[in-house]
Amino acid sequence: MLQRGFDVEIFEQASELTEVGAGIQISPNGNRALDSIGAFETLKQLSCKAERKEVRLWNSGKTWKLFDLGPAGVARYGYPYLTVYRPDLLTVCADAVRRLKPEAIHLNARIAGFEEKNGQIVLSLENGQKVTGDGLIGCDGVNSVVRRLTAADEPSQYPGLMIWRGVIPLDSVPTHMRESMAVNWIGPNGHVVHYPLREGEILNLAATIERPVWDEDAWSVEGRKAQCHEDYAGWHDDVHTLIEAAPRLLKWAYLTRKPLTRYSNGRATLLGDACHPTLPFLAQGAVMALEDGVVLARCLEKYGDVEIAFAKYEKARLVRDNAMVAGATDMTSRFHNQDYRDPEKADAFIDREWSAEAVEQRYEWLFTYNCDTAEI
Ligand SMILES: Cc1cc2nc3c(=O)[nH]c(=O)nc-3n(C[C@H](O)[C@H](O)[C@H](O)COP(=O)(O)OP(=O)(O)OC[C@H]3O[C@@H](n4cnc5c(N)ncnc54)[C@H](O)[C@@H]3O)c2cc1C
Repeated sequence: MLQRGFDVEIFEQASELTEVGAGIQISPNGNRALDSIGAFETLKQLSCKAERKEVRLWNSGKTWKLFDLGPAGVARYGYPYLTVYRPDLLTVCADAVRRLKPEAIHLNARIAGFEEKNGQIVLSLENGQKVTGDGLIGCDGVNSVVRRLTAADEPSQYPGLMIWRGVIPLDSVPTHMRESMAVNWIGPNGHVVHYPLREGEILNLAATIERPVWDEDAWSVEGRKAQCHEDYAGWHDDVHTLIEAAPRLLKWAYLTRKPLTRYSNGRATLLGDACHPTLPFLAQGAVMALEDGVVLARCLEKYGDVEIAFAKYEKARLVRDNAMVAGATDMTSRFHNQDYRDPEKADAFIDREWSAEAVEQRYEWLFTYNCDTAEI
């Protein structure tokens, strides 16, 4: 938006810009959006271009190729599939903002509410400060305050799924686990994803498990390795090697919400997890937020009027965002399936659900989208 000549102020509740020390996958459509805002080339230098993605059976380690991430992916989509250390993504994006407007990001600035008055938004911060502007974009995550004030809906829900998250120095795992690729271990009640970050210096571990009840005090807490090993009892030794090698594990609850039928209400709209929080099983939550941002900026440039632009943005994004969320939820029964207990049933299920054609159908529409040229 700053690039297109709009003045923007960003209000962030945290006292400093930090991200969880974990990895994130940025598929070609996300990298196209990053390129559109001038952040792709820098991020590419800091990230890891894994060669391929594989699926492995939880107990035997039997392996199936999922898709190419290297040159074949670039040839097909124009951009690579990167695996990125989250703090690097945040730094690159924040730097891109500060280059254009050094004082744009306000920290310790928690939004408490807003009202629309005389064709303006009056934003109230928790510290009592009031800020006036032409429009408000709520990109305040799954428990968005702006969403609560613009859409009448229910609060976020724990879906009975949680994730163990850790980063592991690559030199602390055996050599056969150091290959530059992303791996999805699939099993009866959980799945384990790992991929290299930072030119292969570290490995990201993201291990999802079904846990019907969340009984921790917070949605994210320090995890105990013994409990993580227990969650993956019977899984391949490589999975336990990774758990053991993690210097630290976080135990993290997923949160979901019902899909929205509207994002925009007058001069306020929503973006990212605030309007389409998702299970990360297509690895598209942040990527969709990036696409949202580019499309929203284009709508403001094209239509000028904030209310019209917000309505056009909603029209351009809502169906795609909600289809992604539904697709990610659908992936649960492919990542976790009781058929994986029986080697023959597992083979049949994987041949059907993870075949090249099935995978293409699930990902092609995501990866080929161009946020710079999509109809608005
Ligand atoms: C385990 C896991 C793995 C994932 N993997 C991937 C992946 O590989 N690829 C991918 O694309 N996505 C992935 N995602 C999803 C991705 O992390 C999210 O979709 C993305 O972070 C959403 O970004 P956001 O900016 O909308 O929200 P957030 O990242 O939640 O940011 C919201 C910001 O708003 C601030 N805020 C909240 N309330 C207020 C307030 N009242 N006032 C001021 N500030 C406020 C918060 O402090 C925060 O900085 C994954 C998610 C998880 C949990």
